[in-house]
Amino acid sequence: MNSYFNFENTYTNLPKCFFTEQEIKQVSLPNLVIFNDKLAKSLNINIPVSNRNESAKILSGNFNDKNMNTFAQAYAGHQFGHFTILGDGRAIMLGEHVSKFGKRYDIQLKGSGITPYSRNGDGKAALGPMLREYIISEAIHYLNIPTTRSLSVIKTGEDVFREKKLQGSILTRIASSHIRVGTFQYAAAQQDIKILKSLFDYTVERHYSDIKNSEDIYIELLKEFSLKQINLITNWMRVGFIHGVMNTDNMTLSGETIDYGPCAFMNNYDPNTKFSSIDHMGRYSYKNQPIIAQWNIARFAETLLPLISSNLNEAIKKAEDVIKSIPESYKTSWLNMMKKKLGLVDNDNEDENIISSLLSWMEDNKADYTNTFVDLMNEENLNQSIYKSNEFKNWFEIYMKRKLSKNFSKSKSIKLMQENNPVIIPRNHIVENVLSSADEGDLKPLNKFLKILENPYNNIIKISNYYKNDLKSNEPYMTFCGT
Ligand code: AMP
Ligand code: MG
Repeated sequence: MNSYFNFENTYTNLPKCFFTEQEIKQVSLPNLVIFNDKLAKSLNINIPVSNRNESAKILSGNFNDKNMNTFAQAYAGHQFGHFTILGDGRAIMLGEHVSKFGKRYDIQLKGSGITPYSRNGDGKAALGPMLREYIISEAIHYLNIPTTRSLSVIKTGEDVFREKKLQGSILTRIASSHIRVGTFQYAAAQQDIKILKSLFDYTVERHYSDIKNSEDIYIELLKEFSLKQINLITNWMRVGFIHGVMNTDNMTLSGETIDYGPCAFMNNYDPNTKFSSIDHMGRYSYKNQPIIAQWNIARFAETLLPLISSNLNEAIKKAEDVIKSIPESYKTSWLNMMKKKLGLVDNDNEDENIISSLLSWMEDNKADYTNTFVDLMNEENLNQSIYKSNEFKNWFEIYMKRKLSKNFSKSKSIKLMQENNPVIIPRNHIVENVLSSADEGDLKPLNKFLKILENPYNNIIKISNYYKNDLKSNEPYMTFCGT
């Protein structure tokens, strides 16, 4: 017996079609690469990390716990717009860990071998992509954006074959749950209202208990879920994050960012930025993220139709009303966010113009998205040559006039800017350098970088420009799916 986790299982009370029990195959030589001590402590997870061999064994799933019930989840999803039945092809749930505050977290191994949903995949993962998920998910967390977390990465001691031989690895992912829009699509595809209703009730219980007694609970969930997604996407846009593969199976009901595959942060401001090698049409580009979110929410709404009303036309009408309201809600949320980035207190009819002229200037001048806002917070930075043009000076004059009008408060304005404009984001070239050192066994750059990413809004601490600036453009950087 152990007391590493405080496991319970509620997901397995759902109808059997939602999962397949799956034993974990033991790996040959588990070796601990990185462990998130802070996260473990905050969730009361007791892995004996001073014993690295023992910890690596545990984090490969090789331990006994009478409450552990390992399984892979079934789901479906629209991948680049095409509907497919999917499931955890390379992930296995260990259990639901309940922290001492009563919060429930899925503990899942990613890269732990094939499952009935693996299709043609090998069920495995390589070191680089798992460390990449670790870095970016932790960065997103410290940027104050809802996300799944990363507890650890181990090497399995086994080879994984992609274009070349790579080191096999397993990431331990922690999520409020792994219920996805795709899980609802899977439930709807069973064409049995009892199955759909069971998932609905489970989801409300786990993530939306506030609406439990609501009269129109199905529409209420749709509204609440839309708000969570609007909040998430607004935050991604705020920090220049491009998820890269916003398929419906990669959108959680909890509103957490999930599945860090071909994601990356934008450098110079270009709304068409995309990094994923397979996203030829730019479906998941920076500027399309809010539109795709709405598209995905509409797919979610479709799954709820039989529950909303037995009269299909009435159900469609009610769901459509919610979906149609999304662009306006998003616009308001985005405007508020951009105003905070600019330290604008109160409202002015000119705000939207001020924001869009800055963005067009940034696009025309290939200005770095992150650094421009950092420079606006630190006026001494505005003596750089990029800010010398008349166009920028004119904009700045209008901006300052507006900023100092209304109920201007210097401290409030600065606070807003500092809370909303990161100084540090995981720049692509640093991520790549850190991963390549880690692949060769040198973990120092990785650990140093992770430490720096814990304070992205710290405008005061002196951090070397190596971490701050990247003058390279977005273009040459390519990211890959399913690696
Ligand atoms: P993703 O692009 O990571 O969202 O993955 C899409 C689907 O492919 C999911 O159902 C994954 O479980 C599955 N998948 C990705 N990589 C592998 C792999 N190496 N082996 C088996 N299934 C995989
Ligand atoms: Mg996925």
